[in-house]
Amino acid sequence: VAFAQRAGITLVAVDSVANNSDTLGKPRVRGVIVMLARNDDLYGAKNAIGQLEKRFNHKYHYPYVYLNDEPFSEDFKTTMRGISPESDVQFGLVPKEHWSYPDWINQTVAANARSEMAAKDVIYGGSESYRHMCRFNSGFFFRHPLLDQYDYYWRVEPSVEFLCDIPDDPFRYMQENNKLYGFTVSLYEFPETIPTLWKTVRQFMNEHPSFVRKDNSMRWLGNKPDEYNLCHFWSNFEIASLHLWRSRAYLEFFNYLDKAGGFFYERWGDAPVHSIAVSMLLKPAQIHFFNEIGYYHNPIMHCPVDQPAMAGRCQCDGSETFDLQHYSCTGRWFDLFGGGEASRRAFKLQ
Ligand code: GDP
Ligand code: MN
Repeated sequence: VAFAQRAGITLVAVDSVANNSDTLGKPRVRGVIVMLARNDDLYGAKNAIGQLEKRFNHKYHYPYVYLNDEPFSEDFKTTMRGISPESDVQFGLVPKEHWSYPDWINQTVAANARSEMAAKDVIYGGSESYRHMCRFNSGFFFRHPLLDQYDYYWRVEPSVEFLCDIPDDPFRYMQENNKLYGFTVSLYEFPETIPTLWKTVRQFMNEHPSFVRKDNSMRWLGNKPDEYNLCHFWSNFEIASLHLWRSRAYLEFFNYLDKAGGFFYERWGDAPVHSIAVSMLLKPAQIHFFNEIGYYHNPIMHCPVDQPAMAGRCQCDGSETFDLQHYSCTGRWFDLFGGGEASRRAFKLQ
């Protein structure tokens, strides 16, 4: 025990194993499931978390944190506590500073940009709250005090679906294999939402070359440095390290983007922002494709194609998975960094 304590390993007492089914003697993984939601997302939240409980967390009892820019209703809290009675459940209010305009943003310019984008039918182009949400998910969620005690998070959105029983603990997988970012779906961004994002990223890289990892994963973002192919990980699903976002390199990157104003003057999404940062700061081996996690967020599904290996654990059709369809960037990921053999066989590509 003394050795374990010196080594920083927490020995889990036998009676607490039932509450956190970590194996005796193994360090706990400080993982948390996080959902940003509005009170009227309750029905979707209940469905998504209900499925995650059934497919995974009823065996592990990882804690939940729900965040909202307004106070959660009693109904929301009671219902969500009831969905996962064996897990610790916390409800947090997003601080105003994390969901408002920084003082360097000209709100008249921002409002005009919204009207112009709405007129062009850009998705969420006219929405102010969507922009605060994207900025919050890009730069602030990981600073919420309710997440301070954790190393890894799993982001879940209301109304998503988990289509397969999840055989192993993804948090433990991340920790034991030194993974810092995990995804299930990738695709191309709408260019109208990020006209100047790439230019801003390139400026950041020129001004702060020391933050750009030499063996980075940026090839996935395009063949030429001055052109972004719009590939990004779909951030409504993320299993990732909180320390990645808390790192000085990421915070400097976020501040740089935030100063440039594109969260408000354009409609920069947290998905391309996270994805570009991940590609710049991590080597491919630190990024993981969670093939075994069947997942649906309207209108895209990821379903493991190697169904025999999943032995009846899934309620989805592997042949309908998004991975190798033309609007996915996961095929490019496989081409560059390996993986996806089962998908290729199923799609009869090799
Ligand atoms: P989409 O996936 O890009 O279509 O965007 P969503 O509407 O699903 O929003 C992404 C996430 O942010 C979901 O978890 C939403 O519940 C949450 N969200 C979006 N807008 C707001 C908002 O104004 N307030 C709060 N509290 N959550 C929001
Ligand atoms: Mn969504």
